[in-house]
Order: sequence, then structure tokens, then C-alpha cells
Amino acid sequence: MKVGRTPPMEVRRILRQEVNFGCPVCGSPFLTWHHFDPPWEERHHHNPKGMVALCFQHHKEADAGAYTKEQIQSLKSKPYLSKPHPRAKFNWLREQVLLEVGSNYYISPKHILHVAKHDLTWIDRDGSGLNAISMDLRAANGDPILRMKANDWVLLRSVGDIICPASANSLAISVADESIRLQLRFQSLTEEKLRQRIVKRCSEFIWEPIRASITGFPVALCTVNGHFVWPITFRLTPARTTVPHKKGRISCCFKAGGGLTIHKDGGMSF
Ligand SMILES: [Zn+2]
Repeated sequence: MKVGRTPPMEVRRILRQEVNFGCPVCGSPFLTWHHFDPPWEERHHHNPKGMVALCFQHHKEADAGAYTKEQIQSLKSKPYLSKPHPRAKFNWLREQVLLEVGSNYYISPKHILHVAKHDLTWIDRDGSGLNAISMDLRAANGDPILRMKANDWVLLRSVGDIICPASANSLAISVADESIRLQLRFQSLTEEKLRQRIVKRCSEFIWEPIRASITGFPVALCTVNGHFVWPITFRLTPARTTVPHKKGRISCCFKAGGGLTIHKDGGMSF
């Protein structure tokens, strides 16, 4: 049977957890998968014992022969991060960002996600005045899980899994015991690609005002989805925003300058 280059999901999860979700050489959470025992050229396999998660840079160095098998085994057992607390920065800074929060759209709002009087996601300006994303993700008891300040983020406690591709444009976190999930993704879209996306999810009706508010293409789209439990439980999906057991449910809203507000009683405004 032909073995594809990308390891199965379960193998990737084992490799991420083994290094505490950071490159064992430098701690970068943006990981790739290196086959070293035996090397991929010798035999195509996905045995996690003969593989290691590395950042793109250190993967290239490993491919060139920078580390012996013994040194890589040592990196696997004693990675750079001794606890699963990776940190990194997204290099996505723009004068204008289109936010896709669940299926709702906002152009460079100050408050992206305001829930029961707490800011969970908002816009900060970097030193040159460009838009960057900040975020406060917490457990049900209020303990911080992830803090992001102007695209610079750190994980503050152990989680079930954290997925960051080498393209460094997304972050996915899951905390299984609290059913918390966060998916954050940046992408750059042409006018046609964005139009197709919005018309497919919502309608031509919402596309027109969004198009009229965008100052230039390609535009940076930042997508936020997930299941959140603090300060109240709510869910953002590509189809709708819902607050379980409460009255709130909205989809396909657009506002230039405004974000999504979810009230304690489950009501929503945008
Ligand atoms: Zn590295």
C-alpha cells in the first residue's frame, strides 16, 4: 500500500504532544513532521518512534543532516518546552481586516466578540497603527487558557491539543474535558474568492455592503469559530452563532465598525 507523505491525524497528535506542542529545538508551535529512523527516502512509514515534530527551519536542517539519530531521540525525550505552554506571533498586520465571526462579518471592529460584558476578542493596533487581533480565552471557572495581545499569543495552561501548521496562519485549540474549542485562521482572499465564499454561506444581499466597505483586495480575512464556556457557553460555527438553552441564534449579519455582542441572557446584537 502506498504511504502518503502526511502522517495520519493520530500520529500527528502523538508527535505534537511528545514535544509539548513546540519544536524541540526552538519551541516554535508551527510544526512539520520529520521522518528520521528510517528516513523517508529509505522507507515510507509513519511510525511515531522514528519521527519527530520540528518547525520548518529545523526540519530543513534535520533533512540536511544537522542531527544524528541519537540527538533527535534526545530532543524527543527532552524537548525545548518542558511544559505544554507554547507561544508565537502571527505576522498578519493590515490596515483593514475583515472578521468572520461564526457566519457574521465585521470590518475592522474595535470589539470583535463582547460576551456578558467581557471582551473575548478585539482589535489592537501595532506600533505602526495596523490592525492586529487580541484574545482572552478562559475555562468555565475563569482561569486563563490563551492570551493573545496584538497577534502575539501564549498558552497559559495544559490543553488537549493545539494545532499550528507551518504556514503560521492558524491556531486550533481543544480542551476535551471542558469541551472548549477555538479555531482562528487568517487568509488572504481576492475579490472573487471572497464573493464566492460569502454568497455560498449567506447571500448576494450581504455581499454588496461588504464589498462596498472593503478598501482594497486581496483582503485579509480572519475567521473565528469554536465552542466557548466563559463567561457563558456559546458556539460559533460557519452556519450560525448559538447560545444553548437560551434564545440567541443569529447568522449572516454584517456591520462595518461593529462586532458581535452576546448578552448574559443569551440575546445578541451586532
Ligand atoms: Zn525549531
